[in-house]
Amino acid sequence: MTTPLPVFAEPWPEGVTHRYLTHVGATVDVTGGGDRTGYRCTGCIYGSSGQYWHENVAHERAQAHAEKCLALPRPTQ
Ligand SMILES: [Zn+2]
Repeated sequence: MTTPLPVFAEPWPEGVTHRYLTHVGATVDVTGGGDRTGYRCTGCIYGSSGQYWHENVAHERAQAHAEKCLALPRPTQ
């Protein structure tokens, strides 16, 4: 049995530029940049739903969500 790598050591999905770690090990992934920045939680359904925001707004929302989301990350397989 091997110890799983912490989430920050795994390769990030394509397009993800920043990740905010939640208390239970999910991440809120930020994609894009500038005026075309999106975000998505890997634990729950929270996200920008295909809409784009200025990166300041997207990061603020992603971080705020990461601080309070308690949904577990979905299995990757
Ligand atoms: Zn969430």
